[in-house]
Amino acid sequence: MDRYYVDIEEVLDDLQSEWVKSPQYKYNPTAFTKRKIGYSNINMCCPYHNETKPSFGISTEYPYLFNCFSCGASGELITLIADIFQINYLKAYAKIINNYATANLSFSAPENNSQEGGVTEEEIFNYRKKKHSYIETRGISDYTLQKYEIGYDEKNHSIVFPVRDLHGNPLFVIRRDVNTKFYQIPKGAPKHKTLYGLNYLYGKVKEVFIVEGAIDVLSCYEAKLPAVGLMGRTLSKNQLKLLQLAGITKVILFLDNDEWGVKGNLDAYKIISKTPIRVDVVKYPIQWGIDTVDKTMFKDPNDLLLGGKLNDITMVPYMNYYYDLISSKFYRRDFYERNKKNFQ
Ligand SMILES: [Zn+2]
Repeated sequence: MDRYYVDIEEVLDDLQSEWVKSPQYKYNPTAFTKRKIGYSNINMCCPYHNETKPSFGISTEYPYLFNCFSCGASGELITLIADIFQINYLKAYAKIINNYATANLSFSAPENNSQEGGVTEEEIFNYRKKKHSYIETRGISDYTLQKYEIGYDEKNHSIVFPVRDLHGNPLFVIRRDVNTKFYQIPKGAPKHKTLYGLNYLYGKVKEVFIVEGAIDVLSCYEAKLPAVGLMGRTLSKNQLKLLQLAGITKVILFLDNDEWGVKGNLDAYKIISKTPIRVDVVKYPIQWGIDTVDKTMFKDPNDLLLGGKLNDITMVPYMNYYYDLISSKFYRRDFYERNKKNFQ
């Protein structure tokens, strides 16, 4: 098995959010909490036994050995992943390689697109020859479709969004099935190390909107708002590094207007606040978690575009947003308690 390098904090963040959703959580709600970051290792509460004082440590260097002083659990990161997800060793190794193994953030050489899930210029060119009416129903103009090289793949009945690295080299494509509306990203694609659309803004802007999906990026472009897409709800540390590399000094969080968007905002702030980048948050006309916890009229940037409201949005500093959130009568202790570490 090859040596690999990961950002161990990023892995732990993901393990913790998986854990919170898992059935084991109720037996051990402290697992992965009370993290203390040391010089070469991170201490926290043990995922193998329930405790209140952290006695579990994991090294920040390969092979990321862990050890619990209380229950004696020990092994390397692969074992930990295998145990948490209840998968075998090989699958756990593949999970690490596919999701966390570090990108070469300098991008000195063009990305090798012969890797699994990669895409070539020729394939992108061929997809672009075909169109599907679905994308037009989302209010996206031909001009924007051309700019972002949107195409259609008849074989999979899906809209195709090419994803390129900072320097424009093709990495992979996102597909959106026109029937199920599900986004599909190839297994092993470096989505945590890329920001959709950043290549168009590199060197041109200092402030960007951060949205979730590719269609949200296109929607923002319609309203002349420079935006990048997370291709998910979570800003990863590698994505944050890319923003810094691109010289971004301010981000405006513009995630979906729902519970997970709120969580995404809190999580993103937690890591961005360790950098000099300033953080604002977009105010939706009716905000989930502040004005309501029911369905809202506008659930994402594309909804705002279709409703003719995307040019009317306002932005507030993160602290104002956060204050409104915790002082709202819709403040839900059960949800926010679980994310308490974000509030420190
Ligand atoms: Zn233990």
